[in-house]
Amino acid sequence: MLGPPGSGKGTQGQILSSRLGIPKIATGDILRAAMKAGTPLGKDAKRFYDAGKLVPDSLILELIKTELAKPEAQQGAIFDGFPRTAAQAELVERTLTAHGQRLAHVLLLDVPEEELVKRLHGRALQEGRTDDTPEAIRTRLLTYHQDTAPLVAYYAQRGVMHRVPGVGTVEEIAEAVKRKLGR
Ligand code: AMP
Repeated sequence: MLGPPGSGKGTQGQILSSRLGIPKIATGDILRAAMKAGTPLGKDAKRFYDAGKLVPDSLILELIKTELAKPEAQQGAIFDGFPRTAAQAELVERTLTAHGQRLAHVLLLDVPEEELVKRLHGRALQEGRTDDTPEAIRTRLLTYHQDTAPLVAYYAQRGVMHRVPGVGTVEEIAEAVKRKLGR
């Protein structure tokens, strides 16, 4: 699941995970759990997370490697929130290849910027995530454009990129995802 913050990656990834019966791996969820539990990873990640910046690859690459090696991910998985940088994309490709697997589909949820800002501010009131402050929201959107958006071209070149309009009801978007994947 690729797409800017607020595009619905988590929601649609969850629906897809239930529908296809394969697990969803979300680096953001793992980081939030690590911060809550106060683990070394959580402590190191917190200041980047709270500022809306990417947690450095030096911390994330190891995390991704560990997740991809888990037995439950061996029959396929939905990746939510990673890869987010070129280095992460390379690691994912290398690790999957080593396991005889590949990234079959990349879904990009297309949502206009004004709608993203509206959703993120709305969610801030409901969920109270520590990175939903106005300043962190601005940084997260900027970071997406700088570091993650270039992956769109990378995956398009590999012929695995699908663009899905990410506006409408949750059900409508889920239906559009289903049509794109053909299952
Ligand atoms: P998310 O829940 O996917 O919106 O991620 C929330 C925050 O967690 C991001 O703004 C980053 O600080 C951090 N994060 C999540 N996934 C990654 C990743 N793959 N690489 C770096 N930072 C990440």
